[in-house]
Amino acid sequence: MVQDGSLQRTNQETTEITHSFQVNKDLRQQLEQSSVDDIYFKQIVDSIEDRAIFTTDRGNNINSWGVGAARVYGYSGIEMLAQNVAILFPSETQNEQQLAEDLQAAIERGSVKGEKWYRRKNGTTFLGGSSIFLLKDKENNIRGFTHIIYDSTDKKRFQEERETLIQELKAEKQKLVNIFERGPAFMAILQGEQHVFEMANTAYFQLVGQRDLIGKPVAEALPEVVDQGVLELLDSVYTTGQPFIGTERSVGLQREAGGALEERYLNYVYEPLINAQDERIGIIAHGYDVTDQVVARKNAEQLALQIEQQAQAFNVTLSALQDFVYTFDVDGRFTYANSPLLELLGLTLDQIVGKNFHQLPYPEELATTLHSQIKQVVRTGQTVTDETSYTNPTGNKGYYEYIFTPIFDSNQRVTLVAGSTRDITTRQQLESQKDEFMGIVSHELKTPVTSIKAFTQVLQSRFERAGDERSSALLGKMDAQINKLTSLISDLLDVTKIEGGQLQFNQDYFSFDELVTEVVEETQRTTNNHTINITENPHMIVFGDRDRIGQVISNMLTNAIKYSPNAEQVIVTTSVNHESVTLCVQDFGVGIPQERQHQIFERYYRVSGNDTISGIGLGLYISAEIIKRQNGKIWVESEQGKGSKFCFSLPIPA
Ligand code: ADP
Repeated sequence: MVQDGSLQRTNQETTEITHSFQVNKDLRQQLEQSSVDDIYFKQIVDSIEDRAIFTTDRGNNINSWGVGAARVYGYSGIEMLAQNVAILFPSETQNEQQLAEDLQAAIERGSVKGEKWYRRKNGTTFLGGSSIFLLKDKENNIRGFTHIIYDSTDKKRFQEERETLIQELKAEKQKLVNIFERGPAFMAILQGEQHVFEMANTAYFQLVGQRDLIGKPVAEALPEVVDQGVLELLDSVYTTGQPFIGTERSVGLQREAGGALEERYLNYVYEPLINAQDERIGIIAHGYDVTDQVVARKNAEQLALQIEQQAQAFNVTLSALQDFVYTFDVDGRFTYANSPLLELLGLTLDQIVGKNFHQLPYPEELATTLHSQIKQVVRTGQTVTDETSYTNPTGNKGYYEYIFTPIFDSNQRVTLVAGSTRDITTRQQLESQKDEFMGIVSHELKTPVTSIKAFTQVLQSRFERAGDERSSALLGKMDAQINKLTSLISDLLDVTKIEGGQLQFNQDYFSFDELVTEVVEETQRTTNNHTINITENPHMIVFGDRDRIGQVISNMLTNAIKYSPNAEQVIVTTSVNHESVTLCVQDFGVGIPQERQHQIFERYYRVSGNDTISGIGLGLYISAEIIKRQNGKIWVESEQGKGSKFCFSLPIPA
């Protein structure tokens, strides 16, 4: 065992050396004659333990066998001396032939190197690298050969492993090249201080357009960027070694030959490329074309700005109104309220947005109504209008009319509810004053008019008796005018009662057909120009207020005559089905324009154009109220210039 490279050996090893370095007779003589240097030489040879060193004579018999040989092959010197060298080769190989050729080559050239399979004493084989040297004596006669063999199996394995590694590396490199090539990021490698394109991937060509880049410096390959500071950036990265990161930097690129400069926005990095010696040899440019995102964002920002400006303009405009204007989301939470509403509630916009009526200063009952009306708008897509009184947090009571309107998205779904509220306190007060005034006036008028009527009738009968027919006829006309006055006063009184919720009904069973005949006959007496025809009038018992229903029929007949000055006929039809009785009065007069029809049941409403016909617009309002209170329905079908058909229906008692 060699320690620290010295030639000191254990006793056992020394014995082995003595044994192993057995020499044949010739050699022994030589050894005996050899000098002290030769002894050293033998020791040196034996100290090379990982090489088999032995010699053969001309007959290929082994005549010296070193310690290294004993180690490599497992044979001792005693076993090997005078053995033919063939013992060292696996029998099935061609190595003997090869050996003969090697020896011949060694004779010719002095030495030869090769690689052959060898067999150890234990039968295992190994690939051995061999060097064979020609051995000559002093007289230059060929005495044999020196063989130096080392086990190159490891070297072979190492070479194979190295080969595998190289293949793997190549595959990895190919993968990287593929990634480089097909990756979504653009990438280019620029060499040297002229930034010459060495490589550029597909994404890079997509960015700059298909052009001849490789092998050209940036200034030549992309001339349009020269004036855009790109070269200065590249120079700085190359000289300082500091990477450059560009975020959403705009670059004008001529993406088609001869085309206009196109502005692209890029997120990219210029990184210095360093070689194994830590020297800068170029730049890697890689990044993403983020033009679409940047443009989309800029558009969105622009749009947001416009919306913001518009919202401000709306807010200023809406806040200049006296009406309250506001919006809700589909869950009934405020999304906007103009200043007048904020002032009324004593809140700021931040305090109101996101809250529903229940979370704001509204009485519980009103909050519930308003909230459910908004839900109704969202559900039905229909506008809701209503009125309410409201006392604000500072105790001011007011009357308000409001309208909730749906706002639809492109799929016709309600996305928002817009509302506007008008303060009608003053109007309400004026109206109630007016109602009150009319109530008083009509009440005060009623008594004298009743007296006048009574006196007129007395006078008329006196003149009749006295044979003064002319005066009697005049008093008859006066009586008719007093009737009109009485009906006007009674209409005014009815309105006062309706407004005060005091319209009384005397409900009873009565014959509907009889009532119709009676009222028609009564009205017929008031006109000579029109004939009222009853086309159908089946017998029918109805439960309700006979006088009030008669009042409705009378009003319809009077109107039919009034509003058909050039016609001669009015048609009355009663029809019955299992749940209701329906009466219609049809005339062939002026008719009512479509767009006005929904308003004619409102108080004081008169269709314009009928100004020459007397009236105050209360008859249909009172009729509608009566029919509503009798659980019936009232409606009109009309065409301007052709006439109208007014109808009502009443439920039949089960
Ligand atoms: P008045 O007849 O006193 O004006 P009403 O309430 O009875 O009031 O009618 C309201 C309005 O409806 C009338 O002013 C008139 O314009 C319109 N109207 C009512 N009946 C008819 C009809 N038969 N034909 C045309 N217009 C009618």
